[in-house]
Amino acid sequence: MPTSSFTSVSSAVPCPVVESLDAILPEEPLLMMGAGPVPIPAAVAKANAIVINHLGGTMVKVIGQVKSMARYVFQTNSKWVLGVAGPGSAAMEMAISNLAWEGTRVLSIKNGFFSERMAEMGRRVGARVSTLDVADRSVASLEEIAEAIRRERPEIVTVVQGETSNTVWNYHLKEIAALAKAAGALVIVDAVCTLSTMPLEMDAWGIDAVITGGQKGLSSIPGVSLIAFSDAAWERVKGRTAPNAHWCLDATLAENFWHNAGYHYTAPVSGVLALHEALRLVCAETLEKRFARHLKCSLALQDGVAAMGLRLYTPDACRLNSVVGIEVPEGFSPADVCSHISRMHQVEISGSFGLPIVRVGQMGEQCREHNLFRTVHALGRTMVDLGVKVDLPAGVAALERGLSGGR
Ligand SMILES: *Cc1c(COP(=O)(O)O)cnc(C)c1O
Repeated sequence: MPTSSFTSVSSAVPCPVVESLDAILPEEPLLMMGAGPVPIPAAVAKANAIVINHLGGTMVKVIGQVKSMARYVFQTNSKWVLGVAGPGSAAMEMAISNLAWEGTRVLSIKNGFFSERMAEMGRRVGARVSTLDVADRSVASLEEIAEAIRRERPEIVTVVQGETSNTVWNYHLKEIAALAKAAGALVIVDAVCTLSTMPLEMDAWGIDAVITGGQKGLSSIPGVSLIAFSDAAWERVKGRTAPNAHWCLDATLAENFWHNAGYHYTAPVSGVLALHEALRLVCAETLEKRFARHLKCSLALQDGVAAMGLRLYTPDACRLNSVVGIEVPEGFSPADVCSHISRMHQVEISGSFGLPIVRVGQMGEQCREHNLFRTVHALGRTMVDLGVKVDLPAGVAALERGLSGGR
């Protein structure tokens, strides 16, 4: 076909007129203080700009290091650490769809939106899912959990370490895992928002699968996630007779790439490089120091918010530190607060799936003093602007006391 003929072809779908990103993005980047994604360190951003051969020698070395650093972060010696191209939910689905199938008895401890997602994924693979429904702003007692395990005789128990939606912390995780283990069940833990922000010891606590995303505690980019299976979990994955219907998430196929330097699908190389750098920074900081930084910053933030005169959503006993839920004053919606603070103060925070709260994250790079001062100030000014009576100076002072150790 002569090339000139192309000029006479009119496309049925016209080429759209769009704006460049420079025209769309704000001049000053918004400070990402919501429930994720979170700000990323420069080393992570730099790595995310690189593309290399997904099957070359360099990648093999990167993968080896990602796995060994992930083992440290998960606190496991299990060989079965894998990456996932996809959000935290893809890692979640990888755990569920490889370990559960038609008829599998699954008990899901349901604290809210994200723990319900694990139950839903179980139902979708045909598992017989029962849920232990926990009231908002509380955790199930160990007696209730033991009773549910006795009643349902699950092969798998799913539980979230930090329920990001209503900011509840399942502080009993170790004991829950022990109860499940004693009953012969495998335990899947969603640690998407909590990993590397607070202790989680996969081996010592007897957890069989831990999942996480990139864009929360690890301060990497969204879209590349991590999962670790225990030996017992891996045995179940290998022993199943019907293959996983999710081809991309089939752990036995993913093993090709993550353990045998072979091909499964083209890995998101830039995102894996970014995750490598994020994990390297966790290792450089050490988990102990990272947990201490998160705890100090989150408690100082909570003090600042409370001293200003706003109410924290979750009671002290089960309050999640990785994401802080703040009640929105009467007469306002979460969207009123979020849009004002974003527009006027260039700080992004989150609402929460219909709950009357806004959420401020304390994950990874969000736990830096300068980010906290800016956020507490912006939140207080937003309240003042909206006509809510708060004591902003008292909030900032309490934040400062918390950060300088004078709590
Ligand atoms: C954010 C989050 C998820 C979902 O992660 P995505 O990357 O959005 O899929 C799941 N569980 C918890 C606890 C989370 O905080």
